[in-house]
Amino acid sequence: MTDPVPISALQHWAYCPRQCALIHQEQAFEDNIHTARGQAVHHLVDQPGYEIQAGVRVERALPLWSEEYGLIGKADLVEFHTDGTLYPVEFKHGRKRGALHDDIQLAAQALCLEEMLGRPVAKGAIYHASSHRRREVPITEALRRLVVETTQAIRAMLASGVLPAPVNDARCRECSLHDICQPTVVAAPGPYRGALGRLFDPTD
Ligand code: SF4
Repeated sequence: MTDPVPISALQHWAYCPRQCALIHQEQAFEDNIHTARGQAVHHLVDQPGYEIQAGVRVERALPLWSEEYGLIGKADLVEFHTDGTLYPVEFKHGRKRGALHDDIQLAAQALCLEEMLGRPVAKGAIYHASSHRRREVPITEALRRLVVETTQAIRAMLASGVLPAPVNDARCRECSLHDICQPTVVAAPGPYRGALGRLFDPTD
């Protein structure tokens, strides 16, 4: 079996393929205000355990995997309802807003739960810590296909060893890897090209 792809890599890829490669291929990571806030939120759910809330068993930090899709990861929370319903909840900092990169992570968790427990997962939720609100996400066919396609794309990227080009857009402003990535320099034509070309010229 090929190495499993971390579920977190799907979120990184959906945000920016270069960010995914820097983290999962180059093992580069830097914190900024956004990652620090995210870590603070995950401290609420990073200790494995469970509790019963209104008859619902709530598991924290549940390990996940899928042999079929080659995925591995962890769910912040999974609710086990008495009627058999499984309901994953992913914690995010910030206010309630739709984000495909969050939804794809949740859908990957749903596919793992279905395979592990043999029961369908129709929906889950993103819990937005700043607004203390949940955003329910149906696990649609389109999201499921996106999980499969994204996992394949990440596996191909990791096998190639090639770093994707920078997106060099508004996403870079919130990216903790900005200084490592240097999106403007790498993407810009003109003055930087010559310097980049000479950077590794042993005759210089
Ligand atoms: S700085 Fe921009 S291009 Fe570079 S990894 Fe971050 S989002 Fe992607």
